[in-house]
Amino acid sequence: MPTIIDGKKTSQDIKNEIAARVAEIKSEGGKIPHLAAILVGNDGASQTYVGAKVKACHEIGFESTLVRMEDTVSEEELLAKVEEINENPDIDGLIVQLPLPKHISVEKVTDKIKPEKDVDGFTPANVGRMALNWPAYVAATPYGIVELLKRYQIETSGKHCVVIGRSHIVGSPMSILMARNGYPGNATVTLTHSRTQNLKEIAQTADILIVALGKPEFVTADMVKPGAVVIDVGIHRVEDSSKKSGFRLIGDVKFDEVAEKASAITPVPGGVGPMTIASLLYNTLLAAERKVYG
Ligand code: NAD
Repeated sequence: MPTIIDGKKTSQDIKNEIAARVAEIKSEGGKIPHLAAILVGNDGASQTYVGAKVKACHEIGFESTLVRMEDTVSEEELLAKVEEINENPDIDGLIVQLPLPKHISVEKVTDKIKPEKDVDGFTPANVGRMALNWPAYVAATPYGIVELLKRYQIETSGKHCVVIGRSHIVGSPMSILMARNGYPGNATVTLTHSRTQNLKEIAQTADILIVALGKPEFVTADMVKPGAVVIDVGIHRVEDSSKKSGFRLIGDVKFDEVAEKASAITPVPGGVGPMTIASLLYNTLLAAERKVYG
């Protein structure tokens, strides 16, 4: 049996570590980390995600502010709100939940967030700093994967890492992080995407396979080298009448058959997913303690 990389437990460990640091800060009379989230509109999934982030802040002793805006809000009003939070010295980190309504430019809003408060790691400043291997806020999902590799002591140096998917929030930063000079890193990286030819043959040569293409159970056992480490980022709901909720979650990897060949694998649910909130909280702690920008 492979090692099951347990994101649920690891994320709880990280939250406990952050909560312990918050308790220390409190006893020293220091400033409690404060995260602000802007949520535009009433999208169900977005409300759930933001709700979970606010709840996690509460659990570990952070302060949080949720700013809700109607989906009819103008771009100017949203930019003004971002600016107001940028200038509020009490708030350490700011996230704007995506997606935004079509009439609002995600680029303009992202670019407005002060890099020092950009705990989602989406601004050009933080993406650039990450690429330069400078201190940076790394986006939550790639950061969560890095932390899992570290805590499970997965060897990455000199390994061939194949990343499937080149999105700005997962695949692309993951490829940069795995190639950089450090640990985890120093891997030889192949970044694959929808135009890649011979994906199966390339995947078969991966010592570490990071899968983030958003297609249910796309990666099958015949695409995986025996002994590979497989990180599954995908999340999909499929109907399942045997569940009380009526659905279950699956990933981009066909877990049962790939687990038989892999040396280590992340499950879905309970793998990469739970790590994202822990990463966001960690970035907010770094922001409050001025650890990235000094
Ligand atoms: P995306 O749709 O933005 O990007 C998908 C990428 O996959 C693209 O770069 C595309 O070129 C590539 N791709 C598509 N079809 C391909 C194919 N047949 N072969 C090779 N490459 C192909 O997706 P994303 O935002 O990176 O998310 C990917 C998956 O991860 C989704 O299922 C999403 O729900 C999930 N996700 C999970 C978390 C988490 O917390 N676990 C976070 C973000 C995204």
